[in-house]
Amino acid sequence: MKTKITAPISGKDIAQCVAQAKAAAAGGAQIIELRTDYLDDLSVESVAELIAKIRSVAPNIPLLVTCRDKAEGGAKDYPLDLRLSVLCQAAQCGADFIDIEFANFKRPEVRQKIQDALAGTPTRLILSAHQFEGCFADIDTLYDQMKGAWPQAIVKIVYTAKHINDCFEAFDLLNRTQGQDRIILAMTEAGQIVRILCAKFGAMLTFARIDESSGTAPGQVTIEQLKELYRFEHIDQNTEVYGIIGSPVAHSSSPAYHNTGFTRAGLNKVYLPLLIDGGRDGFFGFIDHVRRRPWLGFAGFSVTIPHKQNAIEYAKSQGGEIEPLAEKIGAANTMTLNKERIRVFNTDYAGAMDAIIEKLGDKTKLNGLNTAVIGAGGVSRAIVAGLVDAGATVTIYNRTFEKAERLAREFDGVAKSLSEVASLDAELIVNCTNIGMHPDVDQSPLPKACLKKGLIVFDTVYNPAETLLLKNAEAAGSQTISGVDMFNNQAAKQFALFTNKNT
Ligand code: NAP
Repeated sequence: MKTKITAPISGKDIAQCVAQAKAAAAGGAQIIELRTDYLDDLSVESVAELIAKIRSVAPNIPLLVTCRDKAEGGAKDYPLDLRLSVLCQAAQCGADFIDIEFANFKRPEVRQKIQDALAGTPTRLILSAHQFEGCFADIDTLYDQMKGAWPQAIVKIVYTAKHINDCFEAFDLLNRTQGQDRIILAMTEAGQIVRILCAKFGAMLTFARIDESSGTAPGQVTIEQLKELYRFEHIDQNTEVYGIIGSPVAHSSSPAYHNTGFTRAGLNKVYLPLLIDGGRDGFFGFIDHVRRRPWLGFAGFSVTIPHKQNAIEYAKSQGGEIEPLAEKIGAANTMTLNKERIRVFNTDYAGAMDAIIEKLGDKTKLNGLNTAVIGAGGVSRAIVAGLVDAGATVTIYNRTFEKAERLAREFDGVAKSLSEVASLDAELIVNCTNIGMHPDVDQSPLPKACLKKGLIVFDTVYNPAETLLLKNAEAAGSQTISGVDMFNNQAAKQFALFTNKNT
């Protein structure tokens, strides 16, 4: 079964609900969930009127009616009697689904009322359980109890993922219950991959917000993102999964780049943002989890801040293959998993060097060139290695001087503190810090006075495409190289590693 994209409607009155239902239908929702607990003035009559009106603006879209208990995330504290009457009325008015909390359904009088209301109707029952504090103590037993309570019900279990590694119990349950109608989801940005990859397991539905301003739970993506960016309707059990590992990752352009490439090449692959906190342990734990579950189909990763060194260490600890260049730089931005074989690469080096050489017109012009690199993190390491390989002399400026010193020692450069950057003297300047990156777009690592005609200024920051540093450099008559060029170069090389194809 294909997993249906479900848009929650959470208007305070009938007019708002109808407007949202229209927008959901226009956006491509495949089920509409009417959250009656958001209504300011809830009554059995108003629900009947609302259902009729929603049917008229979204005639062919199945309707799910919910009146959530405050104890499980409901918007208002309506009494159980009223909520139950609303659900029974919804069944009588032809709602395709009604949803009641398992905790309430266990009460014999509630169960009896629901049973009577459903008799003779085609309406299906969803039994739900929500945990906002974290994971359930025993999700498997909970599922079995819910299914046992009403075998023809659709079981819905939603919990809070505090870390991406909390998602694996949802995947295990989805995998174990293949073929059954069920909804298993994890909330928050860390849980977002369950909202998307549940389609691999034929979950009955996933929720998506109509637009950025709507939505009823943390971590919901928009219908448009789900359809256009994550290619949700194409995901099936054979879809290979890729993603960008980092923290933060929400700003990354990589999902748009790779998913567009997969679509163009007609490949059954999807690429997701993978927010991994918790340093080395969080990273190692995540890769261990996906390797233990080959049925999830994870096949490769882009790796960014702060995990580029962790990727090398992980590959080393597992006897994986480390590209000599990545080993020399001490940072990998790409990892591929092929059955048991782990390989790591660095495409930042070539991505940056190609961008520089394209501007210079000829690699030999780097020989003997006086260059300054600002920053001493993962990207700096790749670029310093590339510049030194090409024969340039490099001075490294960094906020944490000891890191600049270490890097300079390894690559035969000169280390200086970032506080000395105003007095730099170089023909090529490369910013490898986060300074100027969204949202701090009004910052620059270099004072305007350092910029002049004849200089080449390269900012590795790619969001925004034109940073304040590049604007100032252009205004001063310097030549500029945008981080977008480096981004596209390194991403194209990753794409080739993921697919054996060019973008
Ligand atoms: P990283 O390993 O975390 O290193 C960050 C560097 O920035 C460190 O040198 C750090 O100094 C410095 N820094 C951070 N915030 C600073 C501040 N407020 N003031 C002064 N220095 C600061 O990160 P990375 O992976 O090297 O990435 C660095 C930059 O490269 C990012 O802006 C990223 O957008 C860009 N990037 C671009 C591409 C591309 O394809 N265009 C690819 C990857 C990364 P300390 O050592 O003192 O902490």
